[in-house]
Amino acid sequence: MIKRVEVNYRGIFQKNLGKYIGSDIVMIASRMGKVAFSNGRYSDSPERNGIPCKYFAFVSPDLSEEELEAECGAKMDIDEADVSLVVDDSMVKGVEPWGWHGVRAINEKVREKGGLVVITRKDHNDLLKFVARKPFTYRLATLEGDASLSGMWVFKDDLTRERCLGAIAAVDPGIISIGAVEEYLLDKTKEKYRADAAREAYDATLRNTKMVSQQEGIDWPYKIPELPKWHEFEEGGVVVPAVPRAFEIGPRGQARNEMFKRGTSKTQRPVVRFDLCIKCTLCWLDCPDGCFDPTDDGLYDIHYEYCTGCHKCAAVCPETECIVMVDELQFEDNSSPWEHHKRDPEGYIKWAEEKKGNQRVHYSHVTGEGMEFQEATTVPANLEGKPKRRAKVK
Ligand code: SF4
Ligand code: SF4
Repeated sequence: MIKRVEVNYRGIFQKNLGKYIGSDIVMIASRMGKVAFSNGRYSDSPERNGIPCKYFAFVSPDLSEEELEAECGAKMDIDEADVSLVVDDSMVKGVEPWGWHGVRAINEKVREKGGLVVITRKDHNDLLKFVARKPFTYRLATLEGDASLSGMWVFKDDLTRERCLGAIAAVDPGIISIGAVEEYLLDKTKEKYRADAAREAYDATLRNTKMVSQQEGIDWPYKIPELPKWHEFEEGGVVVPAVPRAFEIGPRGQARNEMFKRGTSKTQRPVVRFDLCIKCTLCWLDCPDGCFDPTDDGLYDIHYEYCTGCHKCAAVCPETECIVMVDELQFEDNSSPWEHHKRDPEGYIKWAEEKKGNQRVHYSHVTGEGMEFQEATTVPANLEGKPKRRAKVK
């Protein structure tokens, strides 16, 4: 028998978190007398900021090391997961591999009666608005918390690692038991609060687990991706066609790589108040992913399928409240905000302000200093078409 765990994490920002959880599972399972190993799907490829990535852990009570490795070791993906852990809840909207072949459902690999565990402050139904319907029942467990994001290759020691181990033990004790998790953490660190964090997460996960039926979830809106075979690439399987390059100003006129949409990399998206825009061009100029489309009326629409949520446009926009980053789970589609604005300018402002809420998040430029929340400044509508400067207070 083989038990399989996948850890869905954000590239770079959660790289070490994913790796540590995978290796902890191996160490704990080994202490329980099982055979186990872990690997990462992208461990031999460069990761990009925020890209959904996976680490895997495989555990068997009865196979030899060679048998387990032969079965699970040489694959780029997992066949099915007994537990699928999601350490940033915005990934419930779907994940894509690094060479874009469509968006996959976050529960794609969860097997019948398996468990999907999400670190989140949302409830089960809020998450199921984005998760694909399955043809069988499975369990959805939530563990209260925020995505533990850190800088490049840096690990943020905020007990998320220990809490995830407790949650996995709660969802499937056949992988690791909570007793073995506590013992391992105590032996390894001599710090009781780490074992306590795992135990608290274990109890919380048991309390917050729901059976998801075949009726719950959504019809998956994306085509199920099929990875091309190596021999389907050109010239004997070694040439990937180059991206045609072109540039044309106009709505939807910017050149982008249709085969490499990065939209699932974002945890927040920029919301633009077009009535406050002074048409300075900075968002369009500075967006590293070419997401802004110049429009006929001199504004800049956003194509969210390409937006990675990097915050740059919000940082460079000189106008107060003109571009604000908002939690990605507040949005159910990638429709054009500019078209919404043109159709119903007042309604758009109301919609945008509701999405933005009354708190703004600011991240420190120094890794590990966390984020701070500030009250939003309310800026009245400016629909007369006369740009007014409201320079940002930094
Ligand atoms: S957050 Fe802004 S700058 Fe960054 S990718 Fe998205 S649109 Fe471009
Ligand atoms: S940076 Fe702000 S003000 Fe400048 S064009 Fe973009 S949205 Fe408008």
